Amino acid sequence: MGRTVGQAAGEHDGRPVPLHRHDVVVVGSANADLVVQVGRHPAPGETVLGSDLAVHPGGKGANQAVAAARLGARVALLGRVGTDGHGRLLRESLRRDGVDLSHLHDTPAASGVAMIAVGPRGDNSIIVAPGANSLLSEDDVRGAAPLLRSAPIVSLQLEIPMPAVLAAARLARRAVLNLSPATPVPDELLALCDPLVVNEHEAALVLGGMGDAAQQAKALLALGPRSVVITLGADGAVTAEDGAVQPVPSPRVAPVDTTGAGDAFAGALAWRLARGDALADAAAFAARVGAATVRRPGAQNSYPTLAEVETL
Ligand code: ATP
Repeated sequence: MGRTVGQAAGEHDGRPVPLHRHDVVVVGSANADLVVQVGRHPAPGETVLGSDLAVHPGGKGANQAVAAARLGARVALLGRVGTDGHGRLLRESLRRDGVDLSHLHDTPAASGVAMIAVGPRGDNSIIVAPGANSLLSEDDVRGAAPLLRSAPIVSLQLEIPMPAVLAAARLARRAVLNLSPATPVPDELLALCDPLVVNEHEAALVLGGMGDAAQQAKALLALGPRSVVITLGADGAVTAEDGAVQPVPSPRVAPVDTTGAGDAFAGALAWRLARGDALADAAAFAARVGAATVRRPGAQNSYPTLAEVETL
């Protein structure tokens, strides 16, 4: 018999989570991050020797899900992983943080992989092989319609096919879209975002030029989303809604590794919006989560608990 809203749908800290009790449903990617440190990045046609390989769970969807779950949110991840060793690694890390995996589909394909070369100054070059993520379909999303409609927030990014993203936004009560990696998106999707979340570089790509963050936020708002957040690294973020722009400071910290800070910000923002925070308050909380994240190396490994954020 199929599940309906209100029935047990997954686990949070080992306990079943009824469908209607998810705070955030993330629709997105899970990738194994294959990380090698290099003295310098290879030129085309060149081979360089690097460090030993480190394999970490990653992918923008999985990162957002883990960030929110570690703070205490009840989170489900809708996506696809392969039936390979990387798929098992990804499932295990999500399960450890209590993410509901009942809509994470095993797929007879390679799991998504990000090949990451980290240079001496922390400068990354990344190649993503989407693998199973590229097979997430509109039908997968429509098949999870009760789950998506039941959650206060559906959190989206762009490492999965655009038709799946658009289908999820259409079903969401409220859709948060992190426009990353920066890709042209249909006007209909932009109009469904509340908020559209971008970093400074993504904002510049969408708008065709850099500029003052407040002006960029207003220009993005004019493209159709109901609200906008631009993250600004150490400078925090700005929010924009109803034509009003508000700066959001980030706590001063000594950054060690900024990998995954944007995903941590988006996951935390989604959770606080699900709890009913105003946009600027949710962004202020998310900025503290982002700041906590950059104090440690790695992505998911560096994400804080709520207790840690409260000490910042
Ligand atoms: P990434 O691509 O590295 O995951 P991003 O470019 O998408 O990140 P950022 O704007 O760099 O996103 O960071 C997200 C949030 O994390 C910022 O809004 C800020 O709150 C916090 N943050 C990032 N870097 C720092 C820093 N050096 N000091 C304090 N807070 C930071």
